[in-house]
Amino acid sequence: MTLVQKHVSLRPYNTFGVEAFAERLAMLHTPDDARRALDQYGPPARILGGGSNVLITRPLEGFTWLNRIGGLQRLEADDASAVVGAGGGMVWHELVLWAVRHGLGGIENLALIPGTVGAAPIQNIGAYGVELKDVFERLEALHLPTGEVHVFEKRDCQFGYRDSIFKRQARGQYLILRVWLRLRKKGHQPDTSYRALADWLAQRGIGQPTIAQVAEAVIAIRSSKLPDPSVLGNAGSFFKNPILLEAQVHALQEQYPTLPSWPAGEGMRKVPAGWLIERCGWKGRREGVVGCHERQALVIVNHGGATGAQILAFAKKIQESVAERFGIALEPEVNVW
Ligand code: FAD
Ligand code: NAP
Repeated sequence: MTLVQKHVSLRPYNTFGVEAFAERLAMLHTPDDARRALDQYGPPARILGGGSNVLITRPLEGFTWLNRIGGLQRLEADDASAVVGAGGGMVWHELVLWAVRHGLGGIENLALIPGTVGAAPIQNIGAYGVELKDVFERLEALHLPTGEVHVFEKRDCQFGYRDSIFKRQARGQYLILRVWLRLRKKGHQPDTSYRALADWLAQRGIGQPTIAQVAEAVIAIRSSKLPDPSVLGNAGSFFKNPILLEAQVHALQEQYPTLPSWPAGEGMRKVPAGWLIERCGWKGRREGVVGCHERQALVIVNHGGATGAQILAFAKKIQESVAERFGIALEPEVNVW
C-alpha cells in the first residue's frame, strides 16, 4: 500500500544527515505500489533508495519516491551458478550476507556498501576489484513516462567505471524494481588483488580464503577505515577516481614520483582522487561543521548540522585546489540534488 505524506523531513533518509524537506513522499513496498503511484500522481520528481549517494542542497518539490520494494528469489541456473533476483528496495549488504550464508560467491568484496539493491546498477557499485557488472544478469525497471516494465540485459546497461546508462540517457526515466545476479555455487575464486585485503588475509595466515572469510575481511577493513554514517554523516567517496590519458599520468609521475596509478582501459590510467586531495592538504581539515575525513580524504563528512549547500561549497573548494595544483577536474560521484 503506497503511503503518501506531505512535507517530510528527509534527514533520516540520507546518510549525510542533512535536513531537507520533500513536498510529498511516497513509500513503495511493492511494484504495484509504484504502478498505483504512477497512475494517480504521475512520474516522481526523483527516487530515493538508502540516500547514501545523494547530497540534498534544497527543498525537494513534487513527489519523491522512497523505494522499499523487497523480495528475494533464487533460480538454479546450472551446476555452477544460481541466478538470484532481489527487490530494488532491499538493503544491499543484507543481500551480500544472504549470499555469503548460502555459499554463493561473487559479491563478497561488495560487503558493507550502504544503500539498496536497486541503486547498485545506477553507478555500477564497486569495491576491492569487483564491480556489480561482474555478476549482473539483468534488471526489471518501471519506465516512468509510459508505465511499462522494461528488461535491461547487461549490454543494455552500458556499465562503466561508477557509471551506467541510468546516469546518462536513461537518467530519471526508470524505477529499478528488481535486479538479477549470477552468483557462483562452485569453483568461485575470490578476488583478493587489493593490497589491504591481501594483507589482512596474509596477516591471519589465510592462503585460500573462503567467500565468508573475504566478506569478513572486507567488513573489518571498511569498519576500521570508513566513518559510519549513523555516527558521522557522509556519502562515501565524494569524487570519482579520475581516469586520465597514460601520457598525462606519466608526466604527473615525473613531477610526483609517488603518485599511484592503475591501468584503466586502452591508453588510460586511473589515479586515486584521495591521494590528490591529501596532497592539497585537505585530509582531516575541518571548516566549521564540514570536513574531510581524517582517515580517507575522499570522504567529506558532516560534523553536525551542516546543510547540503555548505557541504557542496566545501567540495567545490577541494575541486579548485586539485585543479589548480594538478590540472585535474575531479568529478563528483555523489548525486547532487
Ligand atoms: P541513493 O543514494 O538513494 O540514490 C543514488 C542514485 O540512484 C540517485 O540518483 C537515485 O535517484 C537513484 N536510485 C536509487 N534507487 C533507485 C531505483 N530503485 N531506481 C532508479 N533510480 C534509483 N559506492 C560504491 O560504489 N562502492 C563503495 O565501496 C561505496 N562505499 C560507500 C561507503 C559509505 C560509508 C557510503 C555512505 C557510501 C558508499 N558508496 C559506495 C556509495 C553508495 O553506497 C552506493 O552508490 C549505493 O549504491 C547507493 O545506494 P542508495 O540506495 O543509497 O542510493
Ligand atoms: P584504497 O584501498 O586505499 O585504494 C585507494 C584507491 O586506489 C581506491 O579508490 C582504488 O580504486 C585504487 N586502488 C587500490 N588498489 C588498487 C588495485 N589493486 N587496482 C586498482 N585500483 C586500486 O581504497 P579505500 O578508500 O580503502 O577503498 C577500498 C575500496 O572500497 C575501493 O575499491 C573503493 O572504491 C571502495 N570504496 C568506495 C567508496 C565509494 O563511496 N564509492 C567508499 C569507500 C570505499 P577503486 O576505487 O577504483 O577501487
